[in-house]
Amino acid sequence: MGDTLLQKRFVNNHLDKKLITNQGELPQYYVRNSHPAIITRELFANVQEMLKKNRSTSIPKSTEKHVLYDKVVCGLCHKHYIRKKLRGKYFWQCHTYFYEGKDKCPNKKVPEEVLMKIYKKEHKALQEIIVLGDGRLQVRLDHKAYNKKWSYRPEKKKNGTKTSN
Ligand SMILES: [Zn+2]
Repeated sequence: MGDTLLQKRFVNNHLDKKLITNQGELPQYYVRNSHPAIITRELFANVQEMLKKNRSTSIPKSTEKHVLYDKVVCGLCHKHYIRKKLRGKYFWQCHTYFYEGKDKCPNKKVPEEVLMKIYKKEHKALQEIIVLGDGRLQVRLDHKAYNKKWSYRPEKKKNGTKTSN
């Protein structure tokens, strides 16, 4: 910032001529603007202020965890399900299936819509949703658990008619 602290070190005695860090033995002189500053003091202060604000208000979206993160578990290999986008829709898929292949774990991917319906209904007590290998989901709540069959058919748009849920 263009300032220099003088007498940071000094020669202790003139016989051994060792440089010793000045820890208050000699006065130090702080010289402002002793060499050209690369950025101005004002700019430096502004940037610091901006960094402070950014830290507290805007967390990048990519690091935000989905509400279902850590909640969906594979009933076959017991790994967590991960969120994937496929043709504009989100699905949850077994970690093993995705990274190691169908041979290691053949469990099905589940559309996020199906999982979110359960989440919206049960989120207060929801602990985990286990994806059983047979087209059922096991919904585990704080004090009970139940199995739920799921099927999914992507909505097809028909001309002029509304699709129902
Ligand atoms: Zn699995």
